[in-house]
Amino acid sequence: MRDTIEIVVIGAGVVGLAIARAFARAGREVIILERNSRIGEETSARNSEVIHAGIYYPTGSLKAIHCVRGKEKLYRYCVKKGVSHNRCGKIIVSTQSGQQPELKALHSQATANGITDLQWLTRSEVEKLEPSVQCVTGLLSPSTGIIDSHSFMLALQADLEAANGSVAILSELVRAKVSDQGLQLTVKVDDQELELTANTLINSAGLYASQMANKIEGLSVHSIFRTYYAKGNYFTYDGPPPFSRLIYPLPENAGLGVHATLDLANQARFGPDVQWVNNIDYTVDGERIDKFYAAVRKYWPELPDGSLSSGYAGIRPKIVAEGKPPGDFIIQGPKKHGVPGLINLYGIESPGLTAALSIADHVIALLEKR
Ligand SMILES: Cc1cc2nc3c(=O)[nH]c(=O)nc-3n(C[C@H](O)[C@H](O)[C@H](O)COP(=O)(O)OP(=O)(O)OC[C@H]3O[C@@H](n4cnc5c(N)ncnc54)[C@H](O)[C@@H]3O)c2cc1C
Repeated sequence: MRDTIEIVVIGAGVVGLAIARAFARAGREVIILERNSRIGEETSARNSEVIHAGIYYPTGSLKAIHCVRGKEKLYRYCVKKGVSHNRCGKIIVSTQSGQQPELKALHSQATANGITDLQWLTRSEVEKLEPSVQCVTGLLSPSTGIIDSHSFMLALQADLEAANGSVAILSELVRAKVSDQGLQLTVKVDDQELELTANTLINSAGLYASQMANKIEGLSVHSIFRTYYAKGNYFTYDGPPPFSRLIYPLPENAGLGVHATLDLANQARFGPDVQWVNNIDYTVDGERIDKFYAAVRKYWPELPDGSLSSGYAGIRPKIVAEGKPPGDFIIQGPKKHGVPGLINLYGIESPGLTAALSIADHVIALLEKR
């Protein structure tokens, strides 16, 4: 006989962990299936670790809503649980006078999204705050910060387990089938295949969400979003951090521009760039280093030769192909695809780390409306 579990979440990235935690705390029986040997080894471990303010995204989009709500929840959570973070602020800089309208448009977008704390800075005000930065003007976002994403995920896992939920590592969902009894799952554990039935299945498989959806027999292929991959390479700076805040240029298509971030150990790094790829391969393309020097020197002309080295790379799960306008998060419940008890999440790229706690509320609400 098959075991029946109330809720199965696929993927122990930050989003799957946040969703499972929320269900467990609501008193529901929940297990996460994670095919790796540890939690958070894919996109959730390969990002800028920035708590975003919610400036860039179209008003009313899921990215805007969940970034703004998620940020507030995340700061409160970090304080309550002792997760390392720093509300260090960031400055978005224009480096040519022709970029001023773009910076103004960002300010308007942020205001429309409910971000009311941005401050305009003149060149000399930026220089006072960040003497190494060269720019025309700057926009200071005081509510942007950085977080230790792994500590955040460990705290989510601890909450999940304290509420009787669990994570099954080395457990890969290989296929599923929609049936009258629920979703019938085939899970690979070591070399064995086990059968399970879930009343609810949450597909939070990140870069693999589309592949996973295609393995659900009974789900209409027309409802499945394709995932495209846009790699972001990072290069680390071998020296004391040149800034005390995050420094961002204006966003570029598909990314936020090669920005300077700091981690909580005060190591500066630059990235991510945008490299469209066909496969999931996290190798940093060292050939791109010259482009990094050029991009960073637009706002930090003194960047010394030979001071950058290959860091790491992450891959953005995109629902749009290269050259297309940015897509939103897709959180698809039964109303959209017709399968009771199934939620598919596609395109959970940035700001997914910031938004995770709010995305979890959204998923719970979708199932409550059933
Ligand atoms: C370069 C880059 C920079 C970013 N910077 C930021 C930032 O500064 N701030 C921010 O807010 N966001 C940022 N993001 C976005 C953020 O990292 C992601 O939105 C978030 O980590 C997504 O989490 P996830 O749980 O959806 O996916 P993942 O972390 O990828 O987790 C999915 C999990 O599913 C598992 N899985 C897949 N298939 C199966 C299966 N069949 N069976 C079992 N398990 C399976 C995988 O092993 C994985 O652990 C960035 C992203 C990138 C790529």
